[in-house]
Amino acid sequence: MPHVLKSLLPRRAWLPGSLQAPWAASLVVAAAAVGCLAGGRALAFVAQTPIQGPLSLANFVKGSSDCYDRQTRLPLAVVDTHLHVRPFGGRPIPFPDLLNYLRQSGVLFANLYGIGQRLPVNSPCTYYLDCPGVSADPSLKSDFSNAENSLDVDTSGLKLVLSMTFPDLAKPAEVLPQMAILDKEYPGLFRWMGEVNLAKQALYNNGHQAVPIERIAAWKPFMAELQRRNIPIAIHSDLGNDKDPLKYLPLMERVLNLYPNNRIVWMHLGLSKELAEIDWQHLGQSKQESISEVRHHVALLETLLRRYPNLSFDLSWRVIDDQVFSDPVKRDLYVGLINRWPRRFIPGTDFVAAAGKGEGVYRDELAVTSAILGRVNDEAFRRIALGQNFFELAGLEAVAPPLCRAAR
Ligand SMILES: [Zn+2]
Repeated sequence: MPHVLKSLLPRRAWLPGSLQAPWAASLVVAAAAVGCLAGGRALAFVAQTPIQGPLSLANFVKGSSDCYDRQTRLPLAVVDTHLHVRPFGGRPIPFPDLLNYLRQSGVLFANLYGIGQRLPVNSPCTYYLDCPGVSADPSLKSDFSNAENSLDVDTSGLKLVLSMTFPDLAKPAEVLPQMAILDKEYPGLFRWMGEVNLAKQALYNNGHQAVPIERIAAWKPFMAELQRRNIPIAIHSDLGNDKDPLKYLPLMERVLNLYPNNRIVWMHLGLSKELAEIDWQHLGQSKQESISEVRHHVALLETLLRRYPNLSFDLSWRVIDDQVFSDPVKRDLYVGLINRWPRRFIPGTDFVAAAGKGEGVYRDELAVTSAILGRVNDEAFRRIALGQNFFELAGLEAVAPPLCRAAR
């Protein structure tokens, strides 16, 4: 199924992703081994002690040298950079319970989003798709609630980051005044902005439309302020749909071109249920055609990574795994991309904390969204699953532990 994606192939040939990192045969060297003589030559051994038991924040303090042994641990992310603490409508999971879900799942760092599509308080709906015609808008309510909760509740053992989820990107003049309200009430607490919607087709029956492209220039005042504070902005923008796979690409390109110095995170690799072409189950398309679409998508992402050094991608949302990564051939194309650009991806569940979802749902979404991380190389695993990329984006002092390696 040829279409315009093909024209975006990068100049150099596609390189197949490496499936397994060299750590597969690694040995853990005991702490005492600091050097020895073998065959008359001095061999330098790096002293390594594998972290024992569950990871804790102490393992992420600068200078701690114990190593993370991939051989003996499940390949789960310890950071959840995409966690919606408030649902679209109705009651949330009580915040202390949600924090326990994180603790029990081994998640130590979480980026707390409100929700960019909040249903009216007088609506009985809990999911916007069930209520077409009811408008679902961004709001300050969730941001206040998240800030209050994080101050009121025992957050021990966890490091939480607060994100401003209120902006309506179609109304840029409202952003700085509302930031000022959060500054006044919670000075210094918010280190992130998002998830904000540039184009989200799933919301088109709930009062949202793609932001008009000419309005992006009017973001300038708040984008300048974000840059000044070194705060990243995380944007949901569908790449397109089956009829027009690159329909909304010009929107993100406009953002990236106008604000090259802002740190921008593009959610879900630009994928959505509306762009099912690369879905392995997509009807009417052969498996080969579908794999070919994935190659074009990966090539497009790589072109953007090369062109825009401040761009990162968020790997969250179980739908990406369900629709794409669950096919090993497709997954490995993305693994190759991640291995080549290990500094440019962050993990997350995209869990929406609606009351009634038990801990099992969270754990399942963490496992599913982490699955691809079990395949990436050591550097990418440390930077993504163990959080180094997130720490750098959010301005945290945490440092991901080194991975245990064989002595060489
Ligand atoms: Zn989300």
